[in-house]
Amino acid sequence: MKKLEEYIRDVPDFPKKGIVFKDITTLLKDKDALKRAVDEMYEIVKDLEIDKVIGVESRGFIFSPLLAYKLNAGFVPVRKPGKLPAEVISEEYELEYGTDKLEIHKDAINEGDKVLIVDDLIATGGTAKAVCRMVERLGGEIVGLEFLIELTFLKGREKLKEYNVFSIIKY
Ligand code: AMP
Repeated sequence: MKKLEEYIRDVPDFPKKGIVFKDITTLLKDKDALKRAVDEMYEIVKDLEIDKVIGVESRGFIFSPLLAYKLNAGFVPVRKPGKLPAEVISEEYELEYGTDKLEIHKDAINEGDKVLIVDDLIATGGTAKAVCRMVERLGGEIVGLEFLIELTFLKGREKLKEYNVFSIIKY
């Protein structure tokens, strides 16, 4: 059986020179690889009694609702500025390639909700950290962060020392 990481395509110099982009579309289009990826992500977090799964725009929106459905949890989107229609809070963050801002609806999380944050990939951890700050400002309890891919050499995990960080494929 092919390893999951063999389904991920490296695209050099995208979106900028010097970045090796981990393209997951080659995994997503394969029905067995997609199922295995979701099932493996589910197995790690299934006993955490998660109330809400938070997905980060855009590629975080692929795995988070699939996991929310399997976990019998709700799904909450974290989006780029100006996309969410109701009242939001926001946080700035640094990317491997630039800086940006993320938003979440103020009423998306209730005090004490057990929250799992999901994204396709953790690089420097800046994005995930910004999402953690927003969840905590809204009173959520972060029971874990889960990524399909972890670029371990960028040490994102060190920014998230106080949390449980799970990943399936490590580079
Ligand atoms: P970071 O905030 O540095 O952990 O960056 C994580 C975010 O940027 C995730 O939402 C990823 O989808 C995206 N990202 C960063 N580096 C890469 C990469 N080499 N390949 C694909 N996506 C990346």
